[in-house]
Amino acid sequence: MTKLRIQLARGEVLFREGEDPGTAFLIESGEIEVRTRQRGRDVLLSVLGPGELVGEMAVIDESPRTATARALDDCVLFPIDRHQIAERLAATDPIIRSLLEGQLKRYRGALAALQGKQSAPDALSPSERLGISRIRLEAQLREALAEGQLELSFQPLLDVPLGRIAGYEALVRWEHPERGPISAAEFVALAEETSLIVPVGEYVIDTACEAIARLMAAGADPAPFVAVNVSARQMAHPGLIERIVARVDAAGLPRGSLKLEITESGVLDYGLAAGLIELCHRHGIRVALDDFGTGYSNLCHLHRLSFDTIKVDQSFSHDMLDSPRAMAIVESAVHLGRAVGAEIVVEGIETREQLRALRRLGCRYAQGYLVGRPQSLAQLLASPWDPASVV
Ligand code: C2E
Ligand code: MG
Ligand code: MG
Repeated sequence: MTKLRIQLARGEVLFREGEDPGTAFLIESGEIEVRTRQRGRDVLLSVLGPGELVGEMAVIDESPRTATARALDDCVLFPIDRHQIAERLAATDPIIRSLLEGQLKRYRGALAALQGKQSAPDALSPSERLGISRIRLEAQLREALAEGQLELSFQPLLDVPLGRIAGYEALVRWEHPERGPISAAEFVALAEETSLIVPVGEYVIDTACEAIARLMAAGADPAPFVAVNVSARQMAHPGLIERIVARVDAAGLPRGSLKLEITESGVLDYGLAAGLIELCHRHGIRVALDDFGTGYSNLCHLHRLSFDTIKVDQSFSHDMLDSPRAMAIVESAVHLGRAVGAEIVVEGIETREQLRALRRLGCRYAQGYLVGRPQSLAQLLASPWDPASVV
């Protein structure tokens, strides 16, 4: 078992160059010098004191120690087990992990060169490859945005009792020049990790406004709404709603023609979300809670935030005909929506039987492949929706 605390007398060696690492150390008191040999000469690399880590490098990349550490005076250290660090590294962002691994390799290579040793060029590790592929994808997404490679698809929402299309959800699409179509879930999540989601979101809002204007010009009556997805990171960006309102007004659209969908997420900041929803309501913009019932699903979202619409996640509609429990949950969501004054949309409706069940439950809106797959605006305008497709 690893000792909980290590005491070293002055001059004692903590670890030697070439040894396999099992532990890093946090220095509590005393000083440790780290030395290596370069072309037969002894070279001091660093002197480390209380509050500093020593020996963590070899633990991170599990390579042999590149230097020898020795106590300069009486020292107390806490050993930090390799697994303690490995667990955190495994859980960390792959881009950060790959940057760290790359830096360590370069440091070791430079040290080996100074020592006159040959170091074989290392192949990329799987985690470095993953990190680099994400860095590349992010750079390509920036390029895609600048070069207009992103597009919007529009998926219809059926007004179940009226049997007509009430509006569309705008879904962003990216046709990658080499990889082909990349799923929105993959690249939106990547864009959300950085502020790249902000320009992606602006592109989506602008394009959705253009689409509403085209749908209105095509004579749809009443004019359908277009709902756009907004992520938590976009919400945190100041001035989001003001910019949306300015765009809607500049395009001369009725305010209610654009809706927002906010996905439930662990990071939903109630204060921020409540402020944004209130601002939206003041400007006549309705707000939906997306993917209800999944992830960090939480009734507090409904209790503390006045969403106009609740979108029940597709996992429930997929199972509702086979699972009485899933059916009971969809039914309860319909009642819940009624009780809190919110419209209910059930997502993922793929069969007539599922739609019939929604009708029976008194659900107002349905979305899914049965009603229509996401389509480009041109396809949508060219082929009007056929009510016979759902009966
Ligand atoms: P979402 O907002 O819940 O969108 C619905 C997703 O379900 C879409 O996937 C849609 O194509 C898919 N879908 C619709 N009907 C059916 C069905 O009957 N069966 C099945 N199996 N799937 C169906 P998509 O387009 O891949 O989008 C995935 C997620 O990415 C979206 O989930 C949304 O959270 C996010 N997203 C998409 N576009 C945007 C965007 O412009 N901005 C932001 N922030 N997020 C977006
Ligand atoms: Mg959505
Ligand atoms: Mg959804």
